[in-house]
Amino acid sequence: MPDVEFRNIVKRFGSLTVLENLNLKIADGEFLVLLGPSGCGKTTLLNMLAGLQETSDGTIAIGDRDVTDLDPKDRGLAMVFQSYALYPTKTVKGNLLFGLSAQKLDKAEMQRRVEWASKLLQIDALLDRKPAQLSGGQRQRVAIGRALVKNVDVFLFDEPLSNLDAKLRTEMRLEIKRLHNELKKTIVFVTHDQIEAMTMATRIAVMNGGVIQQIGTPDEIYERPKNLFVASFIGSPAMNMVPATVVANGGACVARHEPSGVPLHLSRYQFEHQPKTGQNVIAGMRPEHFSVGEMPEEACGAYFELPVRYTEKTGSDVTAFLESGGGLIAVRFDSKHYHVPAAGERLRVSYPADKFDLFDPKTEVRI
Ligand code: ATP
Repeated sequence: MPDVEFRNIVKRFGSLTVLENLNLKIADGEFLVLLGPSGCGKTTLLNMLAGLQETSDGTIAIGDRDVTDLDPKDRGLAMVFQSYALYPTKTVKGNLLFGLSAQKLDKAEMQRRVEWASKLLQIDALLDRKPAQLSGGQRQRVAIGRALVKNVDVFLFDEPLSNLDAKLRTEMRLEIKRLHNELKKTIVFVTHDQIEAMTMATRIAVMNGGVIQQIGTPDEIYERPKNLFVASFIGSPAMNMVPATVVANGGACVARHEPSGVPLHLSRYQFEHQPKTGQNVIAGMRPEHFSVGEMPEEACGAYFELPVRYTEKTGSDVTAFLESGGGLIAVRFDSKHYHVPAAGERLRVSYPADKFDLFDPKTEVRI
């Protein structure tokens, strides 16, 4: 099966340049998620791969075929849209068969594929119904089924879950992941939802402003974000970004948290670029890595005792927002193990030495 490759892609709409010299290689069998905020260019990129929009410059290859100027139907792809795009007057079966109309197949083969896809998606009991007689989740399955029957190597998904309620979204995430595990086909999936990206992708390309900011496995993106944008975009609640100054960088590296003066022990930080003493940095601390109370000295990177401004509780999860020199530090913990602090109460929390992310405030790049 083929790789998909974008080479030096440029996309302009009139005088607006949406993508500037973008390069991306998607390996055969990957589940690649294009993740980014609204307007970052991810749908445009997907549409160009599908052949629904032209490139302004650059080439798109699938395997050893240059598909840049090919008709959508000749690219060997199938696409699932956010809107499902089902035909209201056709039955489920009619909709599935319609996906095959461009391929010249005999009746028995068409029948076999419809049976196979409808069993796989558990819609085989619904084949005679019209879309209006289906739930949102069932309609979404039909839309996926219509792509599956085409038996192509590359599937494109454009925000296919955004019209579903939260529970169905969770179910369909698992379902699509299962399909990928079973079929082992290449999937390119566009979303602005980080949970979808983190739970389904084998690799995520995080985009902002038409530029791929980082590409990596979900763990790499979460554990070692390359810049402030990726660090802030991934994680909920968002990573705390606190200003600090490096006060020593000999055997031990220590930075001072500016608002509180608390020392941050960075000796176990794996620097990509060594900072100098006196250099300003932004220290990233994920809310979920804090512990309430003290932790063993050898594991502890920073220790804060700060007043609680307010708390948010979702089930047993609590996020406390601590006041620190005009800013807030979010700390997340489990209320099964600690009481929920009241506003104004001082909370003692510690942060592990090996969980900092450091960024240069000027370049916004990981230090
Ligand atoms: P969303 O999640 O909101 O769909 P996106 O990341 O998919 O966002 P695109 O739809 O790719 O973003 O749009 C990227 C940029 O290109 C946006 O600034 C958008 O306004 C612009 N754009 C998209 N299509 C056109 C068009 N046909 N004409 C002019 N500008 C366009």
